[in-house]
Amino acid sequence: MPTPPGYTPSTGEVSALNLMIDFPDAEGEGPALDRLAEFFPQTSEWFTTSSYGRLDYRPHAPVDEWLRMPKPFTAYGIERGSPYEPGYRELVEDLVEVADPVVDFAAYDLVNVLVTPNAGPSALDTVLSVTFSGNDEAPHADGVPLANTSFVYSRQDDGSGSYEETGYRVLPHENGHVFGLPDLYTAEGGGAVGHWDIMSEDWGANNDFLGWHKWKLGWLDNEQVRCASAPGTVEYLLTPLAEPGGPKLAIVPLTEDSGYAIEVRTRAGNDEAVCRPGVLIYRVASGVDTGQGPIAVADSARGSGGCTRSPNVHAELSDATYRPGQSFGDRRHGLSISVVAEEDGDAYRVRVTRS
Ligand SMILES: [Zn+2]
Repeated sequence: MPTPPGYTPSTGEVSALNLMIDFPDAEGEGPALDRLAEFFPQTSEWFTTSSYGRLDYRPHAPVDEWLRMPKPFTAYGIERGSPYEPGYRELVEDLVEVADPVVDFAAYDLVNVLVTPNAGPSALDTVLSVTFSGNDEAPHADGVPLANTSFVYSRQDDGSGSYEETGYRVLPHENGHVFGLPDLYTAEGGGAVGHWDIMSEDWGANNDFLGWHKWKLGWLDNEQVRCASAPGTVEYLLTPLAEPGGPKLAIVPLTEDSGYAIEVRTRAGNDEAVCRPGVLIYRVASGVDTGQGPIAVADSARGSGGCTRSPNVHAELSDATYRPGQSFGDRRHGLSISVVAEEDGDAYRVRVTRS
């Protein structure tokens, strides 16, 4: 469960280097700082809220103009899913060469490459945005590898008129990777986790991380996490994930690297699309690779169609939460998870029974 070394620290002050780049065949339109302003201060605020103030995300832009790459965009051969070799290595080497005279790369914990939106396809057709994280083989500059670098392309503008408010959210998603988190969407889309984590869906209305991810990132203390490992019945009171302090997460371990997680989600903080507040139950398999479905949400109302029509929000899982009186069962593992009651406003009492 702990994040291996080589990723960006996810607590304390983190300095993000932002570089706005363009190409001879895709020249930046308008000031480069306008591109930066599409992502800040929203991205820093998003992390402050999600981390309960534990991540102090500081964006820096030491170069306030477009950095022109020496080759046309097409020369790097970048497509959706392109590996690091050879296109990205070439692009990063060129970027280092152009920026190094004025940028001290050793002064930053992560790099955001904000590409001029007119390079490459529209995000409506193909999302190119990508992060290479924990990559010690990346080109070095000022003695450090550019190991944790996010690339953001185009604009995630679905035409619904919400771009101004929600278009930045691709960046907290990409930065989630530099902090060591996997993609939760799969080849089939957002059907595994829906809108319950920004690593699953980063278009549309704002959404938070799962409690599992917050624990991994060091934003929840071990004291805020309950563990139902023994046979028998236990009850836990859980407070909303969006509010700081108090018990947040209950884990029901099944194997060394898998189990169920239980948390309370309400319409607060970063979670603006929650249409059925309640207890979210999901299966975590940390041995499953990024994009292959490491997490799956249990749907309390399968086939319901969900409770939201908010654009770009996976509707079916939007009402996945369990309410008082409802239970989730896993017979194979001899366990049941019931919601006993809602208490003190938004807190929920849950009961876990293991045979
Ligand atoms: Zn991703």
